[in-house]
Amino acid sequence: HRALKKVALNQGHRLSRSYSAASIPTTKLFINGQFVESKATEWIDLHNPATNEVVTRVPKATQSEMEDAVASAKDAFKSWSKTSILTRQQIMFKYQNIIKANMKELAKNITHEQGKTLVDAEGDVLRGLQVVEHCCSIPSLQLGETLSGIAKDMDTLSYRIPLGVCAGVCPFNFPAMIPLWMYPVALTCGNTFVIKPSERDPGACMMLVEMLMEAGAPKGVVNVIHGQHEAVNFICDSPDIRAISFVGSDQAGKYIYERGSKNGKRVQSNMGAKNHGVIMPDANKEQTLNQLVGAAFGAAGQRCMALTTAVFVGEARNWLPDLVDRASKLKVNAGHEPDADLGPVISPQSKDRICSLVESGVKDGAKLLLDGRNIVVPGYEKGNFVGPTILTDVQPNMKCYTEEIFGPVLVTLSVDTLDDAIHLINSNPYGNGTAIFTANGATARKFTQEIDVGQVGVNVPIPVPLPMFSFTGSRGSFLGDANFYGKAGINFYTQLKTVTQMWREQDATDTKAHVAMPVMR
Ligand code: NAD
Repeated sequence: HRALKKVALNQGHRLSRSYSAASIPTTKLFINGQFVESKATEWIDLHNPATNEVVTRVPKATQSEMEDAVASAKDAFKSWSKTSILTRQQIMFKYQNIIKANMKELAKNITHEQGKTLVDAEGDVLRGLQVVEHCCSIPSLQLGETLSGIAKDMDTLSYRIPLGVCAGVCPFNFPAMIPLWMYPVALTCGNTFVIKPSERDPGACMMLVEMLMEAGAPKGVVNVIHGQHEAVNFICDSPDIRAISFVGSDQAGKYIYERGSKNGKRVQSNMGAKNHGVIMPDANKEQTLNQLVGAAFGAAGQRCMALTTAVFVGEARNWLPDLVDRASKLKVNAGHEPDADLGPVISPQSKDRICSLVESGVKDGAKLLLDGRNIVVPGYEKGNFVGPTILTDVQPNMKCYTEEIFGPVLVTLSVDTLDDAIHLINSNPYGNGTAIFTANGATARKFTQEIDVGQVGVNVPIPVPLPMFSFTGSRGSFLGDANFYGKAGINFYTQLKTVTQMWREQDATDTKAHVAMPVMR
């Protein structure tokens, strides 16, 4: 069972409690099937968010290293794009098996570098694994179309063919899932890939590409570079990269979309969010409160689909004390501690930003019903912890409402009617996700029909579709034409080629050439 063996812990992106400065391991590049020590002159220290100890140093790859990565992907494309689709399918079958067998190792790495709880980290891997599993259907997913007899003796066939070298730029909050949204889909369609994981937690991506090699992918089909703005600029400008997948903040997403598009590349850009949950007075109370608390504070609120904004309709506002009570019972601790419900946020800067947005809400007149800003976690006093925080009486013009907080903070508003709630949500620039909690089918149907948000839940707080569908954030949360994974993902990573062919018996009497455009006969 070679394919199921645990991937060896030897690449400098593994777990370790503490290091002396001289022995801090480095995160490697992955170029042409090899882990490569970077010759970078600039390095980024990666800190464990629960302790702020340095875990690894991440290089800002040099220009020539990034060029090597693209050259390797370009070279690999020549043969990879010609492998049979069944070969690529078989690699995905093996790959999903290896990821499953290494789920706990991956989760440990995620908790160590990113901070989320171990259970949540396994969920991070699982949601990416599901994309790999879906890629196992590639022979059906990549089918083209045919039409025979479009003219006399003439047929047309369309093929979905790969683009060439594609690239991905990833955020910190799902270090396994988001890389897995990208290269498995691109690869099974016959492309090769250069990926830049988040410089804040690249370890899971490094483990995942190692597992891909273990599954039988040839060298060069996926290459990993590290860095920040320069690496992103390189990806946007490299003439050999045909398409860019981006997931992250608005600022970076708009920039990459513009710069990549100007250079003639396809770009899909998933960005920030402000997801509203509408609570109707007829909702199942206990279930709704549990779901709100889980979706607002899980992963310390660092999910693009976190339910960060609760809109209570009418009498439902009376549930606030129960909501506060439930949220206050959550246990904040280092992610690897078994009792942790939520771990730290990614960095001290992020904590400061979250706390200052909460403060701005208070100054603007919101009421702080639960304040997690001054929490101290015994044994992890240096960690970036923020406890569950709830602001109420929030108004749409307040900064705590208009900005994405990306921390364990739930802002709540009250409105009188469902129409008011719909108007509020449709007036918000973001369109990532929303949910309604109700026991009334007609109310739910009205909401799903009238709401202008790409992913809608009915009694489902985080309505992220499984990979047979696509991740369909809309409006301010997305730039591009084709969404991630599902049919849209296949469309993104392929272009259509149509072949029109005529096969006619020889006819010695047919001696006149026709020069006019063909007309229907
Ligand atoms: P980020 O934009 O800071 O970083 C994402 C990537 O972009 C990183 O690889 C980073 O190196 C690069 N980058 C950062 N700033 C850049 C700049 N100015 N120019 C060029 N490149 C830059 O995002 P993050 O903090 O890692 O992730 C959190 C954000 O991602 C949140 O806004 C969240 O909503 C969003 N997100 C969205 C989705 C989605 O599917 N819509 C999913 C996950 C996260």
